[in-house]
Amino acid sequence: MDSDADVLIIGAGPAGLTSAIYARRAGLETTVLERFVPGGQAALTDAVENYPGFTEPVQGLKLTEAMRQQAEGFGADFQTAEVMGLEPSPTDGPHAVLLKDGSLRGRAVIIASGARHRRLGIPGEDRLWGKGISCCAQCDGMFYRGKRVVVVGGGDTAVKEAVFLTRFAEAITVVHRRDRLRATQALQDKLFALGDQVHVAWDTVVEEILGADGVTGVRLRNVRTGAEEQLDCDGVFIYVGFRPNTEAFREAVETDEKGYIVTDEAMATSAAGVFAAGDCRRKILRQIVTACGDGATAAFAAEQYLEHQRLDEDNAGPRG
Ligand code: NAP
Repeated sequence: MDSDADVLIIGAGPAGLTSAIYARRAGLETTVLERFVPGGQAALTDAVENYPGFTEPVQGLKLTEAMRQQAEGFGADFQTAEVMGLEPSPTDGPHAVLLKDGSLRGRAVIIASGARHRRLGIPGEDRLWGKGISCCAQCDGMFYRGKRVVVVGGGDTAVKEAVFLTRFAEAITVVHRRDRLRATQALQDKLFALGDQVHVAWDTVVEEILGADGVTGVRLRNVRTGAEEQLDCDGVFIYVGFRPNTEAFREAVETDEKGYIVTDEAMATSAAGVFAAGDCRRKILRQIVTACGDGATAAFAAEQYLEHQRLDEDNAGPRG
């Protein structure tokens, strides 16, 4: 790109893609930066049941691919780039987005960098990651046909993915550290309707993942009794929450104690002209629909910010 974009959007998940749709429809030159492929975490979801407008479950990939096509149809420019940092301008832009190779400038920036799966930080986890440990049932579930797997966590993701894994695995043990699940009732009902194929190990944590070149089992500890046991299994799927992808922005904008970007209701960050949308910002509900809502608001707020700038420049009159 030779000139500054009106809006640089970092991340092409539902938040970034919706921002791009709204920004382009507002007539803004819009560039979306994505390090992998568009879609974000949502693209890895097998069946989305709570996105309004679909009476049947829709595949996350199908939904996000349609969003991408929609944004492209409105003229958004997509670039593959890894963002390493952000230098907000102290004087109303343009702001510099630092890439692995070079930098780009945007008169406004929308950070929609999402979040990634947290890890447990236990022995065996790093060594066996990708060799039997996964956080993507959609990607890896098929390798466990007729096998035994452990799913760690008690939230929506763990329960949803455990249900999905019943298509392949013969036996699934959900290991949860408390005596009740955090997941919504509708998902719990689905899980418990599966019968013997799924077992929940309550009040239990995984202490170690076992195996030399591949997972062969887990060492479990009951947090109430302290009793330990070894459970043989072929795979471990870890769903213990998310961490925001905000490391590159923590010097540029205010973040909370967990690293989520702090915004106001217009998605404005602590840096003027820099907005944040979706899972990377502090909020109470991280869903596709709320990411889209954030994205629309951020693009609208960016448009207003640029319009105010233009009016200020007009009022200042010709320079020189
Ligand atoms: P989450 O709601 O934060 O749940 C994380 C789970 O992991 C909790 O059950 C937690 O236990 C457990 N956990 C955390 N740290 C642990 C540790 N060190 N050891 C063992 N267990 C640990 O994360 P999520 O399930 O990934 O969901 C994230 C967001 O996405 C939520 O807002 C969720 O509603 C949304 N989501 C929605 C859907 C849907 O279909 N509507 C699907 C997926 C995700 P405790 O319960 O004891 O804290």
